[in-house]
Amino acid sequence: MNERYSRQILFAGIGREGQERLLAARVLIVGCGALGSAQAEALARAGVGRLRVVDRDFVEESNLQRQTLFTERDARERVPKAAACARRLAEINGDVAVEAEVADVYQGNVERLITNCDLVLDGTDNFSTRYLLNEACVKRGVSWVYGAAVGSYGVTMTVRPRRTPCLRCVFEEAPAAASAPTCDTAGVIMPIISVVAAVQVTEALKLLTGHDADLHRSLMQFDVWRNEWRRIALQGEPAADCPVCAHARYEMLEAEVGELAAALCGRDAVQLRPARPQASPIDLSALAERLRAAGEVKVNEYLVRLRVGQYELTIFRDARAIIRGTDDLNTARTLYTRYVGD
Ligand SMILES: [Zn+2]
Repeated sequence: MNERYSRQILFAGIGREGQERLLAARVLIVGCGALGSAQAEALARAGVGRLRVVDRDFVEESNLQRQTLFTERDARERVPKAAACARRLAEINGDVAVEAEVADVYQGNVERLITNCDLVLDGTDNFSTRYLLNEACVKRGVSWVYGAAVGSYGVTMTVRPRRTPCLRCVFEEAPAAASAPTCDTAGVIMPIISVVAAVQVTEALKLLTGHDADLHRSLMQFDVWRNEWRRIALQGEPAADCPVCAHARYEMLEAEVGELAAALCGRDAVQLRPARPQASPIDLSALAERLRAAGEVKVNEYLVRLRVGQYELTIFRDARAIIRGTDDLNTARTLYTRYVGD
């Protein structure tokens, strides 16, 4: 341990005791895209003992410009991001225990995922998941670090349940659906990812080593192209009228899960998820056999991919599917029911 972490132990903010704390910590990283890649790599190198990484998607060529854990091979083989991340982290620091999960984070699993974690880092790309995470973390008393980036702009804040304002205290409402730019519509450049992830990871190191007084206590906003760095101080307690902090009303956590819940995930793609978690994982090779009559099928240990006409269906072990070639929810549901069943 001494040699590997020597420069970090020399740093006064961490020291030997801080390093011991990092080695004993467990952090949940939700989403392993650009931000999640940067967070996971930094925390693995820092020696955080256990990393739980959850992501629902697989690696594509368009990720490689900014998602630093992944390679051309991952994109060619369309490896799930959580699995590719685990493989890469094992090469970077074999002492870190990585718990990788290929799953969509939703009200049915978020509390289980947080269990036994000292901290949660936001690597997601959408507001619904962030509001859900916010509720689950406040409810369970687990600190989390919000982060987002699009174009050359990024934002981050740290939430300590019942001690600092939560996401809902600061942003009462999420932007209306499809109103905010996303990385699929406005693009994104790598440097803003590095900036946001750097602040998130530093906050994580402070929290995990017990340096709460050094947290930045603000909403930090950056635009690396326009050269704007802004810091809005968030002094004081959570808002007195916040449904989450003040009234323990968890609207997202307690929302009904619809049958075949659908979500747009980028342009020209829809994700579908069965209402309840499956009792047992799908037998992917049996499904692949069944689908061969319908079109071109590829299968690996994580997923089955069916190409049929203009559509491409990717079905995961947990019965979740990503349907490409449409952004119409009903078309996607129809295709799912036709090929996967219900
Ligand atoms: Zn709040």
